[in-house]
Formats: sequence, structure tokens, C-alpha cells
Amino acid sequence: MGKPGKRQNKRQRLCTRFSNGDIILDRCDASTFQRAMALRGPSQSQLCGIGRCKPCTRLSLDPVAETLADPNSYGFRSARSAADAIEACFIALCQNDRAQWVLEGDIRSCFDRISHEWLLTHIPMEQAILKKWLKAGYIERRCLHATEEGTPQGGIISPVIANMTLDGLEQLLSSHFPKKGRNGGKAKVNLIRYADDFCITGASKELLEQEVKPLVEQFLRERGLELSTEKTVVTHIEQGFDFLGQTIRKYRRGKRTKFFITPSKKSVKVFLRKIRKRIKESGDLTASELIGELNPMIRGWALYHRQVVSKDIFHAADHAIFQALWRWARRRHRHKPRRWIKERYFPDKGPNRWVFTGVFKTEKGKTRVIHLLAASSIRIERHTKVKAPANPYDPAWEEYFEKRLDVRMNARLKGRRWLRHLWKEQNGLCPICNQRITKITGWHSHHILWRSKGGSDGVENRVLLHPTCHQQVHSQKLHVEKPRPVTRALRKA
Ligand SMILES: [Zn+2]
Ligand SMILES: [Zn+2]
Repeated sequence: MGKPGKRQNKRQRLCTRFSNGDIILDRCDASTFQRAMALRGPSQSQLCGIGRCKPCTRLSLDPVAETLADPNSYGFRSARSAADAIEACFIALCQNDRAQWVLEGDIRSCFDRISHEWLLTHIPMEQAILKKWLKAGYIERRCLHATEEGTPQGGIISPVIANMTLDGLEQLLSSHFPKKGRNGGKAKVNLIRYADDFCITGASKELLEQEVKPLVEQFLRERGLELSTEKTVVTHIEQGFDFLGQTIRKYRRGKRTKFFITPSKKSVKVFLRKIRKRIKESGDLTASELIGELNPMIRGWALYHRQVVSKDIFHAADHAIFQALWRWARRRHRHKPRRWIKERYFPDKGPNRWVFTGVFKTEKGKTRVIHLLAASSIRIERHTKVKAPANPYDPAWEEYFEKRLDVRMNARLKGRRWLRHLWKEQNGLCPICNQRITKITGWHSHHILWRSKGGSDGVENRVLLHPTCHQQVHSQKLHVEKPRPVTRALRKA
């Protein structure tokens, strides 16, 4: 870590603490980053794939970033998602005594304007490496671009660095507008941030425009950033605003109000445009190949919006996709009657009528049928927000995250299948007390290597325990062995 001495500020001290503990800060040279740069388009789109690859520096920086992070920052952090950010908006705005005004913040091209100087003095990372990395440039479409001011575009750690650059804003706001105290939180100022996208709630328009906005601008200026004047606006909640692809709005009818979060018009439009483009450019793909391409797109979009009021919009999207496919089929068979097309491509599937269907042959020569996924078949499911201060690298939060995972697994069919697999694997017995785990005793799933120490969520790292045995394991820091099924051991011998 950074040399101890003059430069060692609070962030750097924390880092040393980590490097003495479980997480070792790796050394990495600039060329590794160059190789790892995402080869994607500029700005927004490249943010999508970042979670997938984790070079060592991101891994080593992440625990520090998590510890210093703003509690209500949700983008590019382990164990948090956009759904958590939306849920935080819901909590801050839903009730009638909550804030009614929102400042939508938009930072002008955040990632390529961060000041190098500020980063070098404030990011707890080996200075030489960071410097090399900042100067390394990035490779996009096989061209090396030198970086003069911002962090390399599409760099894997750049969201982490962007997060770290903007951390502290929430504390700054809460020190000016305390939730408790003399004014009793009358200002109702809350910051909800997803990477560089954020909104701030407030009690009045004047407060947000005249007091909050200058504070934010000052904060950003220190870091070489600025707000975009045309996109940063203050809106009333009854007008509604878009945040992370969803529209958050309160509807008033007489004295009664209703709070709705729906997929935003823009998000629906972009999604449908992508689908139509794919269909149009499908060339001579067969129906089954086309379905193979469309289904992941539909599933991804619907899963993103499953936490909000989406059912009607899902139905409308399905209808629009149907129309595009109908046109596709008509174009393919110009001289066939409609009835023939309907029977060939849109047969009825049980209670669902007009389901786009393709037929293909497997490698073994068997005929298989594949159906288009309907967005409306994705179940709407409420999301429970992660607790704002929760930190997945802190052992104190271990049980909290385990419980969260259990709830999620129980709610989904795939999760329940996993649980059954785990239960069978240990013959239905708890490895701590050797008693049976039943519906009445209940169960918790425990990570053999703790998550906070880098353990995975996979089946091979999990074991089912009684709730009380689980408590014992955590309070006494017991080690749990995965029970080996007897039959398999015998077979080997
Ligand atoms: Zn037990
Ligand atoms: Zn546990």
C-alpha cells in the first residue's frame, strides 16, 4: 500500500488494515489493465459487462471501496442492484409526509473528466500502479486511445473509482441537513445514487435549487466534475421523474394519492426498437433461431422490471413484439394465406393463443419445439431493499446476507431445487447436531467459507443447518464440514 508518512490519510490507513487481514492488495501492472479493457462502445453501454471480469486490482480495491462507500450508493457494488436504488426512492418518497420534490442529478460525462490529481491523492491504491493505469490509455475497437484527463473508459475498476470519487456526498448532505436535531429533519434531504446517476429528495423546490444544488456543485468541482445544466432539473413527485429506466410518480385523485413505479416510456421504446431491429436484420434465420436470439433479450428486460408495476406494460410489449413477428412472417411468405401463416408460426399453446413457435432438429435428429417467451409470463415480485450500511466484506453482516440469500432462494423455483439438492446431499441431517432438518425445525443455509472472506454462493460452499445451530456456528466461530453422503463413499471404497 501507499507509503506511510505524510500522505497517509484515513483512506490509506484503512487499506493497510485490510492488507494485514484477509484481503491482500495485489500488485498489478498497467499492461494487465490494457488487456482487460472492455472493447465496447463509449459511456453507458460499456458499464454493463463490468461485473463479470474481476482483475485483481478491482478485487483488492473493492473491500476498501465498500467500507468507505456512501450507504445509499447502489451502483457497481457487491450485493446491491438497481432494484435496491429504486426501492430506496420508494421509501424516501412514497408516504405523504415524505419529501415531495426531487433533484435529478446528471454529471457531465463523469468517467472521462475525473481529475487525475484528486484521484492520486484520495484513492487508496499503490500510487505508482494507479498512475501507470491512469496514463495507460484504453483500447477501443483495436485503437489505443491515450487518456489525458479521465480514468480509462471501460476500465474494469473505473466504476469502483467513480464510486469512490463520489462517495462522501451523502455525508456532506446529511451534515448540512441532519435527519434529527433542531429542525427534526424538516429538509427531508435524501441522496440515492447509482454510479454517476443520482437523485436528491427535498421538502421544497427552493431548498433544492438554492441550498442543495450549490453544495453538490462545490463537491463536484473539487473532483474536476460538473453538473450538466440542461439535464439537472428539480421536479415535483406528481409530475414524475425517470430514474434507472423507471418512472417514479405519484398520482392524485381528490385527496387520495397513489404511488407508482413503472418501466419508463424511454426504456420500453429502446427495448422494442432493439427487438424490431433484430427481427428486421434476421436475414434468413429460421423461426427457432430467431426465438433463440429474442428470448434472452425479453427475459433480461422483463427481469429488470419485475420488481415494479409492470404487468400492463409487459402485455403491451408482448403485443408489439407479436405485431413485428407477424410482419416478419408475412414478408417471408408473401403468397401464403394468413391462415397458413397462423398455423405454421403462431399455433395455440394450451390456454395461450397465438404463440410464436419454431421447430428445430437436435444433433441426434430429434424434432424439438421452441416457443417465444412472453414478458408477461415473468412473475412480478417485490424486492426487499438491502440495508443501507450493509457491507458484504464485514463479517458482522455475514448472517444478514445469508438470510437475504435464503429468502430469495425460497421465492424462486430454481432456488428451491438447489435447496432440495443440498438437503439430499446431507441426507436431511444437520452436520452440527446430527438431527434431522424438517419443515418444523426450519433451516438456514450457511457458507462454509464465509462470504465476507471470499466464499462463493455456489452449492459446493453451502450447507443447511438448524437456525439455532447456525447461530452457534457464528457466535462460536465453529468450522463446518460438508457431510459426505455415505453411499458415494462406499462406492468409492
Ligand atoms: Zn442442528
Ligand atoms: Zn452462516
